[in-house]
Amino acid sequence: MAENWPVKLEIGDVVQLRKKHPCGSDRWRVWRTGMDIGIECLGCGRKVMLPRPTLERRLVALNPPAPPPAVMPAGKASGHGRR
Ligand SMILES: [Zn+2]
Repeated sequence: MAENWPVKLEIGDVVQLRKKHPCGSDRWRVWRTGMDIGIECLGCGRKVMLPRPTLERRLVALNPPAPPPAVMPAGKASGHGRR
């Protein structure tokens, strides 16, 4: 089993593409599927549509793991609950 091709894309999926957007982000969120795939840049919110084969060629990763959030020192839970 090589890869799960063709890629199963669903609205809301995040794709990482080979080419970076000028804004510096290489991640896009799918907002439309079909013959053409509509994706929205996670960096600047720009929406574009790509033919599915083109997008699959540029695809690096589907739903790449998010970078871990900055570790917050586990302080006392202040202000937790109702205020
Ligand atoms: Zn962008």
